[in-house]
Amino acid sequence: MIINKAYKIRLYPNKSQLNMIEQSFGCSRFIYNSMLAERKAIYELHKDDENRQALWEHKYKTEKDYKQEFAWLKEVESSSLQQARIDLSRAYTNFFNSLSGKSKGKSQFPKFHKKGVKESYRIVMNNNNIKMNFDSHKIKMPKLGWVNYRDNRQFDSNYIKQITVSKSKTNKYFASILVQIDIPDIVKLEYSPELMVKGLDMSMEKFYVDNNGDSPDYIRRYREAQKHLAYLQRQVSKKQKGSVNRKKAQLKLNKCYEKIANSRKDFIEKLSTRLLNENDVIVIESLNMQSIAQSLHLGKSVNDLAWGMFVNRLQQKSEVTNKLVIKADKFFASSQICHVCGYKNKDLTLKDREWDCPICGTHLLRDENAGQNLKQFGLNKIKYSRSERPGEPVEMSSAEESMKQESYDL
Ligand SMILES: [Zn+2]
Repeated sequence: MIINKAYKIRLYPNKSQLNMIEQSFGCSRFIYNSMLAERKAIYELHKDDENRQALWEHKYKTEKDYKQEFAWLKEVESSSLQQARIDLSRAYTNFFNSLSGKSKGKSQFPKFHKKGVKESYRIVMNNNNIKMNFDSHKIKMPKLGWVNYRDNRQFDSNYIKQITVSKSKTNKYFASILVQIDIPDIVKLEYSPELMVKGLDMSMEKFYVDNNGDSPDYIRRYREAQKHLAYLQRQVSKKQKGSVNRKKAQLKLNKCYEKIANSRKDFIEKLSTRLLNENDVIVIESLNMQSIAQSLHLGKSVNDLAWGMFVNRLQQKSEVTNKLVIKADKFFASSQICHVCGYKNKDLTLKDREWDCPICGTHLLRDENAGQNLKQFGLNKIKYSRSERPGEPVEMSSAEESMKQESYDL
């Protein structure tokens, strides 16, 4: 099976390469903003037309037209201009789709790209215009030549599709390389009592508690760093707007944010890899993070925990490692059910951390019990599933949930 994989590597451009990268950022932004201005004007002109025929049929200028008008656009790699146009078209189409209700979300009219904010440009592989030397850690890109980078991963550079060059808020340069890789075909996971299944119950305090009562060793770095962040933020606001000192203070603040984000990412990467190495199936609750954050007034700490990011990585990695991630239905009462006898304690509140089952008498620790129930849920799901492909998140309907209740002798 062929999949796309992205490798993000840090670039170390020399002076002239750095200038070319900055110039490419500028040209991409120029094309995007100019074409957006064009579309905006035409939209304003025709948006109230009875049928928007004129709006749909308008022929916009292409990047070729712009290159004739502004010769300096020819100095950068031409596919980057093309990609800027494609990005704009997508944003513009999304806007219309959301207007007509074709897409669920609400898209805004595309906004102009600001200088110095999320600077990037994208190039596509064409006639071997991108090459890599993994021994000397150099990557060859059009208009830049060989650029030094730091990273130790290797892949077949013949299968590079595109590269996005970007600059972080801390002024570091990165290349995000999209590569097609071939992975072994997925085999359907069959139920067997030997399957290693782990149920994870999300926890505010401990990230999660699994069916054995274990939690990852997680330090809430974001929270610990809050005080320092607040201090750095004050330093920024104290300095005069537009001054060199303010810029310096802002950079310090950005670096602190970056450090926190990196350590969180590192934690999630290592944890998701380890879990999938040790298990065949991971069962998690499907949660609506926003409603939890709102209802518990703990928005900050839920976001710190980066649960959503963790679940995404688990799912992505399960697809390439032939493992299975199962999301339990959000109405599945993982905490209320006694995992020993199946009794459902409807009176259990969020405050109750431990309880005794009135039917079988088992003393239950809330989180661990939930982990057990999730594990059982996953086992049943595999046993009774019809044709779900491993690697695909599966959700159980209420009917299947009641079936689960009846099959506790498993
Ligand atoms: Zn019980």
